[in-house]
Amino acid sequence: MTDGPTYGFDTLQIHAGAKPDPATGARQTPIYQTTAYVFRDADHAAALFNLQEVGFIYSRLTNPTVAVLQERIATLEGGVGAVCCSSGHAAQIMALFPLMGPGRNIVASTRLYGGTVTQFSQTIKRFGWSCKFVDFDDVEAVKAAVDDDTRAIFGEAIANPGGYIMDVRAIADVADAAGIPLIIDNTTATPYLCRPIEHGATLVVHSTTKYLTGNGTVTGGCIVDSGKFDWSANDKFPSLSQPEPAYHGLKFHETFGPLAFTFHGIAIGLRDLGMTMNPQAAHYTLMGTETLSLRMERHVENATKIAQWLEKDDRVDYVTYAGLESSPYFERVKTVCPKGAGGLFTFAVKGGYDACVKLVNALEIFSHVANLGDTRSLIIHSASTTHRQLSAEQQEAAGAGANVVRVSIGTEDADDLIADLDQALAKATS
Ligand SMILES: *Cc1c(COP(=O)(O)O)cnc(C)c1O
Repeated sequence: MTDGPTYGFDTLQIHAGAKPDPATGARQTPIYQTTAYVFRDADHAAALFNLQEVGFIYSRLTNPTVAVLQERIATLEGGVGAVCCSSGHAAQIMALFPLMGPGRNIVASTRLYGGTVTQFSQTIKRFGWSCKFVDFDDVEAVKAAVDDDTRAIFGEAIANPGGYIMDVRAIADVADAAGIPLIIDNTTATPYLCRPIEHGATLVVHSTTKYLTGNGTVTGGCIVDSGKFDWSANDKFPSLSQPEPAYHGLKFHETFGPLAFTFHGIAIGLRDLGMTMNPQAAHYTLMGTETLSLRMERHVENATKIAQWLEKDDRVDYVTYAGLESSPYFERVKTVCPKGAGGLFTFAVKGGYDACVKLVNALEIFSHVANLGDTRSLIIHSASTTHRQLSAEQQEAAGAGANVVRVSIGTEDADDLIADLDQALAKATS
């Protein structure tokens, strides 16, 4: 599509970034299954390698199918550019890479996807980076945790597993005052429910594995740049503001302006870290984005019905869904994600660990898997699986106590899902 009228979300999720294939007229975006691209001549090759001309060189850096997905996600998020990569975890490392260095730290929410807690508390230490985990409902504590070595603040708009809602604007104000970017993991909300850039986020990361693809077929990740951060306002971000030796002293921010972070992500991040998305994966995710709003509406509708049903059931102790009036986050939904609180929540089963294990075994439509954001309804008992190695206290703090299961509500008939939960709860608590 060309720059023209401002289209609505439902139009953009199908058309943004795509046009009929110039060579064949193919209406659907072809899967450009190629490693390399023929240069017009030696001068053209040199210009591409010097970043003087934008074009395709080699698919570790850029690929036309992946490029369509990048433009589509950037458009849906209201960003200026995006870089796709091999997984959500790759996106997190790629987002931090230009900002960090040995001795630098990030401040992150305590309420994060379990794998992110491990990545931030253990793995990034190998790079000399560290993370301070803070309760993001305590804005003063977030402020207090930021120090001279902090290079980013990181949180999830709708937090996995509990479905808690982050006050993105309040945390963005802390980041702005400190002159550092706010990175939002928008995986569980998707741009249909929440647009973090409108609430002050600098960068948005995704596991495209989840709702953006929507059917559990491929892993992928994406980093979207708002284009709004001034990387040269202080001396904290030399990778973006200072001469880059690997490109003959080119300064990314001075040269590419609002696209500095995106160009850096491709020209340095993908080139040297190599966490590339392949064109097949981009194809599946492009198919998914075409129906994103329709699926999210149904995910929200089903999750609301099921959470309300569970909350009234006396075999259930509590339900964490923020779309319930009983949730402490109910009011925040209206400003942060006005189209709904997503499809993910946890609930506590009377009878503890044993009842949860029986419930998971007795369900017929729900699949017992470590994934979320599928059209299929999914369930996991964290205490006996993903959080098995943790102590009881650690499980409790992570919202993954022995009596709690996490559900990712799919787009099936809500009545069928309720009937399935009903029969399984009967078996689990008899
Ligand atoms: C799954 C997930 C990730 C990690 O993504 P992968 O594609 O599995 O690497 C990060 N954040 C959230 C919120 C997730 O749900």
